[in-house]
Amino acid sequence: MHRIGIGSDIHRLVEGRPLVIGGVKIDSELGAEGHSDADVLCHALCDAILGALALGDLGKHFPSDEERWRNAESFIFLRYVVGLMKERGFSISNVDSTVHLEKPKLRPYTDDIKRGLAEVLETETNCISVKAKTGEGVDAVGERRAIRADATVLLAKV
Ligand code: MG
Repeated sequence: MHRIGIGSDIHRLVEGRPLVIGGVKIDSELGAEGHSDADVLCHALCDAILGALALGDLGKHFPSDEERWRNAESFIFLRYVVGLMKERGFSISNVDSTVHLEKPKLRPYTDDIKRGLAEVLETETNCISVKAKTGEGVDAVGERRAIRADATVLLAKV
């Protein structure tokens, strides 16, 4: 049995914040604003897995007005969601994702991102795809005001 889920997320880019994508710290003059570490890729992935399980969204499980999640590492959220998935007898078949960011280029980081995600998602790196797209100078991504991520996940019942 398979279940499919999609997730997306957007965060404002500001000065004085770190930029963390898929658990990897990116060297960037702008960082993502948010209550937690604002890791868009992790948030999109959490929503995709929760969506596949029909368990609501990230905000339902980790309300952004709760002080204990301030600056929290988003891998905490992802580990929790993976726990819910495993409780229900599912594992990751594959993940496809796109990070929309104008600068810097993400390619030098994608192998590290995939390695970290594979560990948390308890799967192999060849089951995880992380693509990068710029905003071509248009929209909030193109104008370097935001970072966005989209993720699709397929779960299989073990
Ligand atoms: Mg978010």
